[in-house]
Formats: sequence, structure tokens, C-alpha cells
Amino acid sequence: MRSLLALCVLLLSTGCLSTPRHSTPTQSSNAASPDFDARFTGSTLRVDYAHCGTSQQEAIALLGYRAEGEWAGSRTQLVDRSDTGKYRFRMFDKASGSELYSRGFASIYGEWETTAAAKQGWGSFQECQRFPEPRASVFLALEKRAADGRFAEFWRTELDPQSRFVDRSPIPALGEVIALRENGPSAKQVDLLIVADGYTAQQRDKFVADAKRLSDILLVTQPFARHAQRFSVRCLFVPTPESGISNPRKNIWKDSAFGLSFNAFDSDRYVLTYEDRILRNAAAQAPYDALILLFNERKYGGGGIYNLWATVASDTEPAPYVFVHEFGHSFAGLADEYYSSQVAYEEFNPAGVEPWEPNATALLDPKNLKWKDLVDSTTPIPTPWNQTLYDQVDLAYQKQRAEAIAQQASEERNEELMREIKAQTAVLLATEPHRGKVGAFQGSMYEAKGLYRPEVDCIMFSRNPTNFCKVCERALERTILMYTE
Ligand SMILES: [Zn+2]
Repeated sequence: MRSLLALCVLLLSTGCLSTPRHSTPTQSSNAASPDFDARFTGSTLRVDYAHCGTSQQEAIALLGYRAEGEWAGSRTQLVDRSDTGKYRFRMFDKASGSELYSRGFASIYGEWETTAAAKQGWGSFQECQRFPEPRASVFLALEKRAADGRFAEFWRTELDPQSRFVDRSPIPALGEVIALRENGPSAKQVDLLIVADGYTAQQRDKFVADAKRLSDILLVTQPFARHAQRFSVRCLFVPTPESGISNPRKNIWKDSAFGLSFNAFDSDRYVLTYEDRILRNAAAQAPYDALILLFNERKYGGGGIYNLWATVASDTEPAPYVFVHEFGHSFAGLADEYYSSQVAYEEFNPAGVEPWEPNATALLDPKNLKWKDLVDSTTPIPTPWNQTLYDQVDLAYQKQRAEAIAQQASEERNEELMREIKAQTAVLLATEPHRGKVGAFQGSMYEAKGLYRPEVDCIMFSRNPTNFCKVCERALERTILMYTE
């Protein structure tokens, strides 16, 4: 179990550690955003590093700095006030020490360190942080959230943006950028970039049609629908020699443009790439705040990590659902509210620790439930629901699904099972007395007990609904405003 004590050991054993600086979220939120033009050039810089470690220690190895194009993010919302993320990236003016920019995030490393593999040896994962290019020297810092919820700095470096260490070569032209909708200047828009992987040159029009079909679904889902004018959507098409992506469980290996593969952390449906630098160099051809990697596959799969990117298979029956669900993770840091599907994480959220995710709680202090303003006075906390019956139905399905995966069943068979469980659980959840009410329903974030979700059903819980619960919807709306106001 990862405790506060274990975290201290972790920090002290990190080779590049500077003195930990604890800060509360409110301390970091007090500074007003500095005048943008005085502080920043209007371009984007990127720092790339390897995030390495084991379950017991953690280190950062700098890989380099890269100049990108125009800064597409907000020019007023520079300091992150959301208090969301397992990690936080911060930039401080060297001369005054004032905070110029910050963003909470989660990472592949941050997930990997909770798997069994991290107890057996080292892992190393590329990470890239993009930020508005400062005019003067700065400190860049990485912080990790401790068990008490506060961030502690574990890496810091100095950057002179005018130095020879920043690669200012032109971003190479690769593929084609296609605008699907542009609604205004990138500084006032959520600029969504959908990147192709596993599409051949002949499948270019299919990719554009897939990207349009799925992003249209996102933009009719609340709260995106009522803010659709704040979204610009572009595609990046880079052809690959063969159709599809790698699937190690079936011994299928593809040389796709961005290295997406099934079987991340040995989970059949989890799709990630470990080539973030190649991806970022290509994506830098377009202005973007958020990335979705759309891969050309009939097989069910995807993934989403907060402020990293989301991945989605194009051709499955639930693809529209997966597109919206995974974007919920990557855009607003929403937690998975389900708890029965197989995952590789051993203890994603340590016991007794309040999750940072806006839609999950350990209910350590029921009177101060973090979404209590959305709970009406007649709803009991915790909120009763028929979890026993739901679990009976769902566990039977999970067993069938595991068998289907083991037997390498067809996608048609997997989708038949998904339709069956959807029909059965939709009936169960529709009869719940507190359906549609915000409360605290036990079972969330891969744990049947001890973690709670805001409503009995939500896009982050099951494939049944077409809407987010009110807590998820509010978190998504706050993120939209952070990019556009
Ligand atoms: Zn929700």
C-alpha cells in the first residue's frame, strides 16, 4: 500500500530531487495571471523527458526542448485552478519567482507505477509538456500529489528560452492537416486535433469521415453541445503502409505512424503509444489543446489519460460511446466510475486517500462530500442502490467476456455480449429509486467497496446512457471555460 511514508521514501530516493516544496491548492491559485504579452512570445515551447522508476522510486531524465508553432491555449487562464491531476507541471519566472503557468496532468508512468510490473523492475516512458514560450529565464518544475492531497515538487530545472538547448528547426511537414470546423481564434477555442493511426493512403477519406462522424457525436453530448461554438476540430492524416495497429495477443505487428498498440499494461482492450515525441512533432503542425488518436480497427479498444490524449478504435459498434468516454478522461480528468472490468492496476487509488478525480470520492468525510452542492436534502449519503443484484448480472458478463477474450472470439461475438449486458443492466438501473439524483453510490474506480460515484449511471460508468452525470458534466464545462475564457 502506498502511504505518505512510502511517498517520502520515494522522494528521498529520487536522484534528481531538490528540496520538496509543499504547497496547498489555494496557495497556488492566488496569483493572478500575468499580462500575457509582457511575459510570453505567443509561441509554444515543449520540454521532453523520460519519466522513469519502479513502485518505490521515481526519476526524471531530460530529453530536450522543442520550439513549436503559435500558442493555441488560453492567454488569460494560465495558472491551473482546477486542482486536478496526479501530477502538476509549473513554470516560475526566474527573476521574481512568480508562477507563470501550470497544468495538472496524469501520465502513462503514473498508471504504470500502480501495476505489478513496477514491483519487478524499472520502467521508462516519454512525457512532453507544452507551455507558452516565456521571454525570460524560468524554472520548470514537476510536482506529485501526496496522500494528503497536496502537491510536492520532485524535479526542477532552469531554462533560458534563448539558449542553444532549444531545438528551433522547422517542424517537418508530415501528412495533411484537414479542418472539420473552425469557429474562431485558437486562443479562445478548444482546439481539438484528431490524429489518424493505422489508415493507409487509400483510406484517407475513410479517416476524415470517421473523425467527422465521431466528433459530431461528441458535440451533441452535453456539456459540449451547448458550447459547440467554442470548439474547433481539425484532423491530421498521416498514412501508414498497412491498415490497422499492432495486436500482440494475436501476434499482429504493424508499423503504424504513431505506434499505437493494443495490450498496453497487458490489458487486451487498452490502447496506448509509447512514442509521444514523434506524435508531438507531427501534431505541432496544427494548433491544438487536446488530442484524440483515432485508429483504424474493427477491434474494441481505446484509452484516455488526463491532459495527455485519448485513443479510440474507429469501426466498433460502441465507437461513438468510447470516443466520448475516453475524451472525458483526457479532457477533464474524469475517473472511470465502473469497477468490475479487468484492469492491470493493483491499487489505482490507495485505500483511505481521497481521489483527485472530480467524479470519485472515498467518502472519508460524508458531510463535506466534494459535490455536496448538487445533492438535494432528501438523498441519503451514502446513497443506497441494489449493488448485489447488479454485481450478479455484471460478474456473469465479465466471466463470459474474459472467456471470449481467451478464446480470441470474433468482434461480432464480443459486441453481442455487450448488447446483452447493456439490455440487462439498463433495466436494473432504470428501476433504481435514486436514479437521476446526485448522491454517493458505492462502487467506482475499479473498486466495488470504499469508493463512490455521483449518480447510479453515467457515461463514465456504463455504456447505457448517452449523457454524463451532473458532476462529470460540470467538470467538463469548467474545463471548456478554462480553454476559452
Ligand atoms: Zn459521472
